[in-house]
Amino acid sequence: MPEIPDLEAIRHYLTPRLERLTVTSTATPIPWLVRTGSDGMDSLVGHRFGEIHRLGKFLLFFVDDGRILVVNPMLTGRFHWVEAGARKPGMLGVVIAFDDGHELRYSDQRRMGRWYLVDGPEAVTTIPQMEKLGPDVMTLDEDAFVALMKKRRGQVKNSLTSQEVLAGIGNAYSDEILWEAGIHPHRRGATLEEEDWRRLFRAVRSVLDESIGIVDETVAGEGLGKKEEWRQHLKVHRRAGTPCPRCGRDIKGQVSGGSETNYCVGCQPLFE
Ligand SMILES: [Zn+2]
Repeated sequence: MPEIPDLEAIRHYLTPRLERLTVTSTATPIPWLVRTGSDGMDSLVGHRFGEIHRLGKFLLFFVDDGRILVVNPMLTGRFHWVEAGARKPGMLGVVIAFDDGHELRYSDQRRMGRWYLVDGPEAVTTIPQMEKLGPDVMTLDEDAFVALMKKRRGQVKNSLTSQEVLAGIGNAYSDEILWEAGIHPHRRGATLEEEDWRRLFRAVRSVLDESIGIVDETVAGEGLGKKEEWRQHLKVHRRAGTPCPRCGRDIKGQVSGGSETNYCVGCQPLFE
């Protein structure tokens, strides 16, 4: 599932490329991915996109008439930036063609992503899952993060990945952040001290900032479309059985509800 560094890289890659281009046609080969209400996607023809924003795990493409195209790629949504004649990917869901001969394509193996075309910023909040979205983690400073998180009594990994508490972090980056902070993913929030929450905030920032730089560079080099997420630089997520880069013990892997949690028992003790 794309998380903050992946979505930031897509945003950084597309923003300068979409600038000054006009939409010439659209297609929705998997029509039910798109929830546009009475305005079909073809109402974008003749328009241009301006800024692209990210909010949690959503991308927001601002249209020159004030409308906003909101995309939630969910588990497997993938963007492609290609020449119009390029070979089509499997599960192609949405195509937006531009006047320079490029197409922005969206494919989605599990077809769980959603596209919405809404009238403006106020209408964004009516989109399912946006209504209850917590603050985007990148907008919080240390004190705001600590004030929000120290109320959470349950397992710290659940609080970090709950989009209603804090938007933008998912399964992969929560493992990286908790390893960086030396906090066991199953520690209960109630057992953490103020200093632990502060260390966790600093880990959020250092892991995400560093990863945004790495993923940006990778995407600038290889372009969009080969992957929906970029994970080669991660230190513990999906690294079960390999030595912890800090202490050398084996990284543990625990699967529950279809997703894997990875951590180091040496660096991330459950009881303190
Ligand atoms: Zn370790």
